[in-house]
Amino acid sequence: MSFVQLEELTKSFDHNLASAVNNVNLHLEKGEILSLLGPSGCGKTTTLRMIAGFEQPTTGKITIGGQTMYAANVSVPPEQRGIGMVFQDYALFPHLNIEKNVMFGLNKWKMRERKKRTQEVLELVGLEDCAKRFPNELSGGQQQRIALARALAPRPHVVLMDEPFSNLDASLKEKMRHDVTMILRKANTTGVIVTHDQKDAFAVSDRVVVMKDGVIQQIAEPREMYKCPSNCFVAQFVGKTNLLDGTMCADLKHVHTHIGKVCLPEREETMIDNVKVSIRPEGCLLVDEGRYSGKVEHVTYSGEYQELVVRLQESDSDGETMMIYAPMEQDVLIGSV
Ligand code: ADP
Ligand code: MG
Repeated sequence: MSFVQLEELTKSFDHNLASAVNNVNLHLEKGEILSLLGPSGCGKTTTLRMIAGFEQPTTGKITIGGQTMYAANVSVPPEQRGIGMVFQDYALFPHLNIEKNVMFGLNKWKMRERKKRTQEVLELVGLEDCAKRFPNELSGGQQQRIALARALAPRPHVVLMDEPFSNLDASLKEKMRHDVTMILRKANTTGVIVTHDQKDAFAVSDRVVVMKDGVIQQIAEPREMYKCPSNCFVAQFVGKTNLLDGTMCADLKHVHTHIGKVCLPEREETMIDNVKVSIRPEGCLLVDEGRYSGKVEHVTYSGEYQELVVRLQESDSDGETMMIYAPMEQDVLIGSV
């Protein structure tokens, strides 16, 4: 049995509407960090809140550390689930100093133990010198580390974080991704992190779960997900990609996929007539005679890839344009055909 198990978890807020979370099955091992990734409204927060016990599932089962937390006739209250929660806005108490903020979750502990554990987690997040300061005297990144320290203090089975990086500016975000990962690893915590940002998910987690409309699309390690997305949605949500129409044909021995005249390297596939082929920018090469021909109208450099707006030649001047993600190394001139 896995450490955390969600089985056929469904949540409908209104029976006339589609389920916010639809038949989610997820297993986490002890010490594993998992991200729930997907666009706004896809059911990430609802899933997290059901694990925490703040939201009652419509159907399904939740098990943590071998104990059933939710099932048809079981519902363990949030405070008895062994969950540490880090909210998007940190939710620190402004009128309590840092030490008292962290101690708050330890109210059932003996005073000496509370002090010792508070000191320990403040050291873990590298803020032992800030114990007597108040939240408004700390930077955003420091406040977040305190929120994490407070969540970790009672030694929860699982730490849940909802959009932990969305209130931070870009440079601090990168540092915090690293800091949070290091802290969770050092504390050997099992964690579920909700984010709409692929970079967050890839940076902090062992495995990523992509959701869309309440339904899991793929569960995989970051590298696997980038290289072998399970459908067009995942391919486009995780990094940039060129999605091109292809056809498949088979001879006696092999199945081949073609994009126009271009035949792709052989892979073990089942035969389908029309397919979409996902080609990442770094796997793309623009050549004089390819499947598509057109004029480059605009080039944007991101540093990782370049985004070309190409007007396809078959169409007239107000005809179709196509977005192509090409590698940075490729020389492209505007107006080139
Ligand atoms: P995410 O965190 O991925 O942005 P949410 O889990 O917050 O998505 O929401 C999933 C869906 O459930 C959305 O359509 C949202 O409007 C709906 N929803 C969330 N909470 C409630 C609620 N308390 N009452 C009604 N609908 C809700
Ligand atoms: Mg949310």
